[in-house]
Amino acid sequence: MTLILPATLADALWAHAAREAPRECVGVLGGRQTGDLAQVTALYPLGNISARPEHEYLADPGHLLRALRAMTADGQTLVALYHSHPRGPSWPSPTDTRLASYPVPYLIADLRRRELRAFRLPACQPVPIELE
Ligand SMILES: [Zn+2]
Repeated sequence: MTLILPATLADALWAHAAREAPRECVGVLGGRQTGDLAQVTALYPLGNISARPEHEYLADPGHLLRALRAMTADGQTLVALYHSHPRGPSWPSPTDTRLASYPVPYLIADLRRRELRAFRLPACQPVPIELE
């Protein structure tokens, strides 16, 4: 599959990542899925309630529930999750792989190299991102 991410939402994702650094940021992306294409139409920043937010993320469950409800109300579905790696890399960590539980791509924003990549977890299969 391919993820289509509008440049304005990519900017919002990077802004969220920069705001939270050196903590990891986390959020979800809502949109429409048509066959092999997922079009992102909304970004929902979530709180990171991990006890070690500089090394991993744990989305605030209340924030997540609210975001999923907002998506449903807007006719969107969950098309991806995102989080940042303030010190890189843009590759999933062993913890990311172990805790992955959604059948959607996971975006990782590497702040050090300003590189955004997406993966299917736990297989770490890369998913192309097209910016528009
Ligand atoms: Zn990670």
